[in-house]
Amino acid sequence: MGRCLSLLSVVVPCLDEEQVIGETHRRIVSALDATTGFEIIYVDDGSQDSTLNILRELQQADQRVKVISLSRNFGQFAALTAGMQHATGDVVALIDADLQDPPEIIPDMLEIWQQGADIVQGLRTNRRGEKSLRVWSSNFFMRIFNIMSDTKFKPGVGDFMIIDRAVTEAFMSLPESRHFLRCMIPWLGFNHEIFPFEREERDAGKTKYSLRKLTSLAIDSILSFSIAPLRIATRIGLLFSGLAFVGITYTLVTRLFTDAWVPGWAIVFITILALNGLQLLFLGIIGEYLGRTYGEVKRRPLYLVRERLGFAPERRGE
Ligand code: UDP
Ligand code: MG
Repeated sequence: MGRCLSLLSVVVPCLDEEQVIGETHRRIVSALDATTGFEIIYVDDGSQDSTLNILRELQQADQRVKVISLSRNFGQFAALTAGMQHATGDVVALIDADLQDPPEIIPDMLEIWQQGADIVQGLRTNRRGEKSLRVWSSNFFMRIFNIMSDTKFKPGVGDFMIIDRAVTEAFMSLPESRHFLRCMIPWLGFNHEIFPFEREERDAGKTKYSLRKLTSLAIDSILSFSIAPLRIATRIGLLFSGLAFVGITYTLVTRLFTDAWVPGWAIVFITILALNGLQLLFLGIIGEYLGRTYGEVKRRPLYLVRERLGFAPERRGE
């Protein structure tokens, strides 16, 4: 017998989505029309436009709508976490606000959950409307991540997914504050199913991820999931020490047992430059890890809430 749904929580992170959020709401509600019970939690991640006002209106018109307004922009991951922490459903759906992930397939994903899957994660079979540089860099990142980390994820998966309550709780029990949701999911384990779907173009507005933001997110994710860069540094250090040892032996043997000697100051300078460059690079890598450890040690909250709308009073004292 399959699982029975009493409440679905839909979590929607929003940053400056005034152009699309009304339509997104309409599509989510009509997609879930036949679903037993649902709540929609919009998390306003410090929007500068009128997104929050629109969300307030939606909340006043429909009691199933809940709104969390963060005190500033904390990033999509923080917004998703805030939504999950406030969700009360047996299952949580995570969906972008820009209609790139079609809400109409949530009921199909729910069916797979009902048959026993704990995580049903969307796999983008095409990425309409995204620049080819963006798609290429995202695939490149996924490949590097999978080489460097013990946790592997399937190229093409995104943050559009539905997850069982047990998974949400497991996820929230993790102490670290910085991560990339789609990398975290395979680490959690559970019964994980992939759901291929066609990703649409953004309905309106523009992406909140510049190439610079994406690069820093990629570096962050690799460093929080893998210590491979440190290992690579150690191995290269060992290789250079080995080469130096061979060079020293060769120079000494030539000087002591033959009439010749090894000439060439140029090579000495080049070697010094190369080794200093490498040392600085590796210090930089260690520094990156140290900086992240420092960030975690401070134990600052992942997000701060300015206002909650539509929640029962007992959730307020959190
Ligand atoms: N988003 C957010 N905070 C941010 C960046 C993005 O809440 O700092 C939301 C955004 O409003 C959208 C979702 O996260 O609902 C995905 O963002 P976007 O569509 O810009 O990303 P892309 O689809 O281009 O990867
Ligand atoms: Mg998008």
